[in-house]
Amino acid sequence: MLGAGASGLACAAEAARRGLRVLLLERGPRPGRKLAVSGGGRANFSNRSVTPEDYLCPSGPQFLRPALKALPPEAVLQRMRDRGLPVEERDHGRLFLTVPALRLVRALEADCAGAGCRLVCGAEARAVQREGGGFAVECGDGVWRARALVLALGSPAFPQAGGTQAGWRMAASLRHTLSPARPALVPLRLPEAAPLGAALRGLAGISLNCRLTLPDAADGTRRSFEDDLLFTHTGLSGPLILGASLFWRDGHDLVLDLLPGENVEALLDGGGGRTPRGILRGLLPQRLVDAVLPPALASRKAAELSRGGRREIASALQALTLRPMGTEGLARAEACSGGVDTAEVDARTMESRLVPHLHIVGELLDVTGRLGGYNLHWAWASGLAAGRAVLAGTSFTGCKTASPKMAR
Ligand SMILES: Cc1cc2nc3c(=O)[nH]c(=O)nc-3n(C[C@H](O)[C@H](O)[C@H](O)COP(=O)(O)OP(=O)(O)OC[C@H]3O[C@@H](n4cnc5c(N)ncnc54)[C@H](O)[C@@H]3O)c2cc1C
Repeated sequence: MLGAGASGLACAAEAARRGLRVLLLERGPRPGRKLAVSGGGRANFSNRSVTPEDYLCPSGPQFLRPALKALPPEAVLQRMRDRGLPVEERDHGRLFLTVPALRLVRALEADCAGAGCRLVCGAEARAVQREGGGFAVECGDGVWRARALVLALGSPAFPQAGGTQAGWRMAASLRHTLSPARPALVPLRLPEAAPLGAALRGLAGISLNCRLTLPDAADGTRRSFEDDLLFTHTGLSGPLILGASLFWRDGHDLVLDLLPGENVEALLDGGGGRTPRGILRGLLPQRLVDAVLPPALASRKAAELSRGGRREIASALQALTLRPMGTEGLARAEACSGGVDTAEVDARTMESRLVPHLHIVGELLDVTGRLGGYNLHWAWASGLAAGRAVLAGTSFTGCKTASPKMAR
């Protein structure tokens, strides 16, 4: 198996538990580096509700169904309890550890070791090829041979925690079709020159709960999100933006409602001699109000505003339309959309339909979850599906399983 991240560790432990001899090769100095920094170091490891519709998968939600059905969130929670890892549920059903995510990495490592899986770190796989009925993996100055191969190489997102293009390269060398890697769950950049651009960049550090609508989301629907928005020096971030970025496409608008649930026109109606600026002071940070309100209306008495003026103010606050100039890129992305075309992979076993005994799991597949624990849940679910299926039904003479051997 290649890659000791979330999906590789889950897969390796499961396969080794079945009695297979498993070798897990990891490029980094230690396993699970992305997992260790996930969820701000507390791993948002799953969600109370996980459905195929929580993912973007170009070949459709049916691909996700069998693996998600085999691993409901309750089963993931139970595994955490079994490992003695305390958890908490936060808003939107997000399940987090209350201890450092590194404890989960250690527990997964212990699962692997306990099941007899051999983990080798500092082992960068350079190339893979078919050899006889199995595979040869070039690594260091040697070659490892195995009867089956699992690619759990993740994505190029967040290279500082181990993201690489290796999975894209190796899956392509085995004839798989891959769509390009695109940053997902990533902050968005605002153009400085656009109307409001410079003013909004000046709000860096302000955070508030908002609703965001994408009138024309990537999956062709109209999508709305409600969560915390953070203004940054270059644009927009926070859970609201990371979540929406998965569905945002270059050149498209997003619409912000800075006061979800409020009737701003009615507030102004009853404002009498107070100014809109004064009325809104208790509801929004003053700097934000000043940045978005039309200056000519902001300091008029509410009672003097025309209906059109009240509507204009409401629209500036509740239908603030912005066109980001792009994302902060793969370097700042928590995930990556694109990857191996799932039409070429069996949904129950994650086995390649093109290459027998090759399995592909985790983020390397063209499956991307929403913000909220869905990507780690997919890593567990796809890893488990492959771990249960690797070499199942294959009979061997001699050893029962994949037999890695260093040939120098
Ligand atoms: C900052 C950050 C926070 C995140 N927070 C969350 C969260 O809270 N909840 C959530 O659901 N998701 C979160 N994610 C996403 C989640 O971490 C990933 O979706 C998940 O780790 C993917 O699992 P994976 O096994 O496919 O890939 P990875 O976990 O990335 O594992 C791939 C492994 O392959 C190794 N590798 C790469 N190239 C080679 C090679 N040539 N040879 C050998 N090994 C190689 C890498 O070093 C790595 O260990 C976060 C991501 C980031 C970057």
